[in-house]
Amino acid sequence: MRSYMIAGNWKMNKTPAEAVELAKAIVPMANAANCEVMIAPSFVCLPGVMDAVKGSKLIVAAQNMANEEEGAFTGETSVLMLKDLGVKMVVLGHSERRHVYGETNEVINEKVKLALKHGLRVDLCVGELLEEREAGKAEEVCFEQLEKGLAGLSKKDMSNIVIAYEPVWAIGTGKTATPDDAEAIHGSCRKKIAQLFDNEVAENTIIQYGGSVKPENVKDLMAMKNIDGGLIGGASLKADSFEALVNFNK
Ligand code: PEP
Repeated sequence: MRSYMIAGNWKMNKTPAEAVELAKAIVPMANAANCEVMIAPSFVCLPGVMDAVKGSKLIVAAQNMANEEEGAFTGETSVLMLKDLGVKMVVLGHSERRHVYGETNEVINEKVKLALKHGLRVDLCVGELLEEREAGKAEEVCFEQLEKGLAGLSKKDMSNIVIAYEPVWAIGTGKTATPDDAEAIHGSCRKKIAQLFDNEVAENTIIQYGGSVKPENVKDLMAMKNIDGGLIGGASLKADSFEALVNFNK
């Protein structure tokens, strides 16, 4: 049966020294938590953070990676580099990668397959823009992102996949989807995963919610049947607010 995963996406915040300090503060929370806890610092912070969390239950993820293993790809970071640091997970297809940097479902799928090939877990983000929601296309967009993002994966591969449903209009805006609205899409995404794979895979897949999750709304969101954790930006940047999120079920 699936567990909960509370994850902090630090985006382009924290210097290496600040990242180590925050990671050290999160280690005891992760060790005492009754859910999985993950943080995703920026690439340059990963070496120091990996060192700081050694031996703990805290999962460290990269925020992205290249769709190639190595070569002439200036500015990119390879899965081989992440593996060498001991990184075990990678966030892929975040809306900022899709909408600011133009990543397509096809490129994201290449990255997903490459990460899995090298034994990394993947946190695959899906979610609709405000205009897509207003046009009644929220499900359609998420389904396409799931179908194309997970193309070519086996049922076994799915044990290393976490999905994050993040409505783009709710990310960093302070606007949260209501628990019922989020639950509706989570339930539909789980059905879509059952169609693409089978019921067992769907039941075992963690589907996180992301979009202005904070200590004040986390309990109501996590109480929904198909919401299995959160991918959190703003509220993950301070130890005390992240602690309240990690301890949502205590
Ligand atoms: C995110 O970074 O994926 C996110 C959901 O950000 P925020 O919690 O700040 O909305």
